Amino acid sequence: MYTRKNTKKIKVGNIFIGGSDKVLIQSMCNIKTSHVSSVVKQINKCQNLGADLMRVSIMDKRDANAIKSIKKQINMPLIGDIHFDYKLAILAIKNGIDAIRINPGNISSEEHIKEILFLAKEKNIPIRIGVNSGSIDKTINDYQRPINENDMIKSINKQIKIFKKYGFDNIVLSLKGSNIKTTIAAYISAAKKYNYPLHIGITEASINEISLIRSSAGLAPLLLLGLGDTIRISISGNPYQEIVAAKRLLHDLGLYPNYPTMISCPTCGRTMVDVTNLAKKVLNYLENNNINLTVAIMGCIVNGPGEGKSADIGIAGGKGNFVLFKKGKIVRKIEEKNVYQELINEINEMIK
Ligand code: SF4
Repeated sequence: MYTRKNTKKIKVGNIFIGGSDKVLIQSMCNIKTSHVSSVVKQINKCQNLGADLMRVSIMDKRDANAIKSIKKQINMPLIGDIHFDYKLAILAIKNGIDAIRINPGNISSEEHIKEILFLAKEKNIPIRIGVNSGSIDKTINDYQRPINENDMIKSINKQIKIFKKYGFDNIVLSLKGSNIKTTIAAYISAAKKYNYPLHIGITEASINEISLIRSSAGLAPLLLLGLGDTIRISISGNPYQEIVAAKRLLHDLGLYPNYPTMISCPTCGRTMVDVTNLAKKVLNYLENNNINLTVAIMGCIVNGPGEGKSADIGIAGGKGNFVLFKKGKIVRKIEEKNVYQELINEINEMIK
């Protein structure tokens, strides 16, 4: 359907970003990094949910020094997010961070960047140049006019030039904006110019449904163009939901194959059963048991089996009972009170 861009491959800890079909999922801890045990717990939970990488904020020396202890208790690459103070980047690298993200908008001194680059090179630590529309280099846009994609590209070009001047090529790029069109244009333009892997995301994407819609609207076009080597869906206050959302988006675009697909109808005046709760319960079961089938939960017998015919198995509600169907063909009736368990039994039979 579409070809993934074959970017430079960058090693982060024991995995690679770019150069392959796999889009890595990442999120960011929302606990102060120096609170080691809570951070470790959150990172490990995120890994169980499917995160490939996690990022932590390095706000002060205590955070930078916590890296050592955190690294001993986790099994995934850890990225440090550093703003303003280049010395914290140096300390985080010395303490064993696997990669760092710096924002050219707030670490702009070439001397300071040079120091970070020399140490990162020595330790083979990649750096993400993370341009963010909310913190562009003031010499490029002083916020007297709206940020556009050219500002973001200028900012990243300027930084890449400095990195190259000091022979540093171990780079991942991101150009996150909160405006969807600006972000898409900036990433497309960067991908034309550079072959570095892209970390894609829409920044400040807001809460729950707003973020899910905004992030999907911004990231799906890029992924369909074959761009994006690692993804973060930013949702206010919920790293766990970020990972589940990233898996779902990638799955629906054919980039995360081993994952369940749920079909359920929107419900209408014909609906005589509780489609919503049943669908949630069944999806939960499929996800928790890694069952990679397409399952349909439909509201009526009239249209359900036909509308859900792409599913491997499904049920459609009637009055007091359901029909069970496989690939759109009705197999048998099930009493309403037994429907969840009988559907689960049938699913388990199918995957035997
Ligand atoms: S499957 Fe039936 S109940 Fe569900 S939306 Fe379609 S017509 Fe309505």
